[in-house]
Amino acid sequence: MIEGKIVRVSGPLVVAEGMLSTRMYDVVHVSEKRLMGEIIELKEDLASIQVYEDTEGVGPGEPVYATGIPLSVELGPGLIESIYDGTQRPLNIIREKAGDNITRGISIPGLDRKKKWRFKPTKKKGDAVVSGDIIGTVKETSLVTIKIMVPPETGGTIEKINDGDFTVEETIAVIKDRNEKKEIKLLQVWPVRVPRPFKKKLSPLEALVTGQRVLDTFFPIGKGGTACVPGPFGSGKTIIQHQLAKWVDAEIIVYIGCGERGNEMTDVLLEFPELKDPRSGEPLMKRTVLIANTSNMPVAAREASVYTGITIAEYFRDMGMSVAVMADSTSRWAEAMREISGRLEEMPGEEGYPAYLGAKIASFYERAGRVICLGSDKREGMLSVIGAVSPPGGDLSDPVVQATLRVVKVFWSLEDKLAAMRHFPAISWLNSYSLYSDSLENYFKENVTTDFVKNERTAMMLLQNEAELWEIVRLVGVDALSEKDQLILEVSRSIREDFLHQNAFHDVDTYTSLKKQYFLLKVILYFYERTKEALEEGIPISSIKSMKVKDRIARAKYIPENEIVKIEEIMNEIDEELTSISKEEIKMEA
Ligand code: ADP
Ligand code: MG
Repeated sequence: MIEGKIVRVSGPLVVAEGMLSTRMYDVVHVSEKRLMGEIIELKEDLASIQVYEDTEGVGPGEPVYATGIPLSVELGPGLIESIYDGTQRPLNIIREKAGDNITRGISIPGLDRKKKWRFKPTKKKGDAVVSGDIIGTVKETSLVTIKIMVPPETGGTIEKINDGDFTVEETIAVIKDRNEKKEIKLLQVWPVRVPRPFKKKLSPLEALVTGQRVLDTFFPIGKGGTACVPGPFGSGKTIIQHQLAKWVDAEIIVYIGCGERGNEMTDVLLEFPELKDPRSGEPLMKRTVLIANTSNMPVAAREASVYTGITIAEYFRDMGMSVAVMADSTSRWAEAMREISGRLEEMPGEEGYPAYLGAKIASFYERAGRVICLGSDKREGMLSVIGAVSPPGGDLSDPVVQATLRVVKVFWSLEDKLAAMRHFPAISWLNSYSLYSDSLENYFKENVTTDFVKNERTAMMLLQNEAELWEIVRLVGVDALSEKDQLILEVSRSIREDFLHQNAFHDVDTYTSLKKQYFLLKVILYFYERTKEALEEGIPISSIKSMKVKDRIARAKYIPENEIVKIEEIMNEIDEELTSISKEEIKMEA
């Protein structure tokens, strides 16, 4: 239905008149090319539309078509393994139809209309159901069986429920509520800007294990938590996000890529389908949804991609799953906001970003959480969100970084200096923090060992000590330090190099279980304890510095998971070597 007429086109922003009957955030189709756009401002009959496709060649006088519906995603079987653009158009199907260049105005549903899915009911005729109740399952991939839920704001008595193969649009059940009958399908549609409802939000109490030592041991994120990874160009944001996508213990991964460089998303698109899920050996895509914005796509689509991604993640959370969302990089989204805001001639805030930058970023991260889902079975779902931020020059006073830090609970600070020294992951152990550390203490006690957290604190104290000692060394040299302080430098170096440093590209080193993390750190701290005693007994620091066992400690991280006992054995070797050193000492004195 033709609604209005274009009066002005300014890049991704189109202004149309005659739009009286439309609403904010309605989707419209712009011009005969039917470019997809969303109304982001309404003033009387003038609508400002952010267009998710290239507006080149579109001009005043052309029509705008209303749809009467807000920007929405399709939820149901078929999401997993998909690679979508920001408005949930499947990129692989677009490519089949239109070649490498996305044809503008092409409209393809997010979920395949022809594919049949095997639906297995778990409820029967006559059962009473409320919204969120699980009525059956669909095995979607070899790794994931999804639950089919009664949609929000629906409930009643099941009048009919079918067992068999269905497309997403066929009726699988009929629910009767008083005199109204509602047909339930595998497909649900949900407006992306509206968070999906749940019963109650709870604080995260379980660690989202990443297998990355500096993250899990020092700055852990909880399942349902939020984290941000700011860092300058080349400091390792994308590698961290990829590591998380591969290793994090979530059932579903939603990866939102807002490419920094043109080829970066291409890398993701080529690389992800090749990756194997390390636990099952199956392709990683079998539990992943990819949303890709290459940097040559129109800026407005970045905003859509962020909302589309988080809504898809909420849908899996609602089933009671643990879902992790990675967004790389949210700075690209913020830049799109800045551009659109500038074209709307809004009053600019800090560095030209709109005044609502903070509110928008907050509303994205606030959709994370551990929740009691809708439904009568009291299941819990967890949605964790990890966003990369790429401030110009790595400057942490950047408005996007600051706005993000105000909402997220974990800060993984990537530093140029560390990346330059090839200390990867280049996460600063002095500046990063996790506000979940205290609430996860019990988790580590119960799931690893009682002294996991204690060891972490000791190690962190040593690292902080080291930083202070380096200040002194800079002024007066190492020799001015006491032997005890020199030992602290020695042990801290070992914590940094043998524990914190982790090579994403090494077969064994790429992932470390919590148990192995515990033993690796324990061995280093045991070395510290024992050598400190040795110093007190008169063994010179020079003998400690040249201990052979140090080499074994350095290589311990390459010991595979199924040989962890070999790490424990290093503690005996420390004892043995110290015993032989002190025998030598006694001999020399005699
Ligand atoms: P950014 O996204 O911040 O621009 P990248 O994630 O692309 O940076 O990382 C840049 C480079 O740093 C990588 O190509 C890789 O060589 C190196 N690097 C980063 N993290 C690691 C890691 N954990 N292990 C090994 N190398 C890494
Ligand atoms: Mg990157």
